[in-house]
Amino acid sequence: MRIGLIAHDKKKDEIIVLAKKHKDVLAKHQLFATGTTGTLIMGETGLPINRMKSGPLGGDQQIGSMVADNGLDLLIFLRDPLTAQPHEPDVSALLRLCDVHNIPLATNRKTAEILLTALSNDESVFKN
Ligand code: PGA
Repeated sequence: MRIGLIAHDKKKDEIIVLAKKHKDVLAKHQLFATGTTGTLIMGETGLPINRMKSGPLGGDQQIGSMVADNGLDLLIFLRDPLTAQPHEPDVSALLRLCDVHNIPLATNRKTAEILLTALSNDESVFKN
């Protein structure tokens, strides 16, 4: 499976904790991330990650393009709902595309935990 990982700045610590906790399952899949998120997760876990541009510089749109091309199977996007983002239109567009293409999407840590646990138990539930 192809898994996208994105976290807004105030959620970066959380996504690192999540990636460390679920490193074994993540290691079995192809990982993609926006620039800063990817660099941090790679540094902290050693997992190989295909990195896009930083989110505010177009990385969210690059991940969105993957979704539109059926190139992503699961997206974990830990959003910061309490801070205005300069690239909010890109964020909304990405979330919308996940719904258009029926891509499992976690926007908070608890949902991400549930999806990663489900993935480690039975990958077949993620097949479209
Ligand atoms: P970043 O982008 O991983 O480059 O920080 C995430 C975002 O803000 O969308």
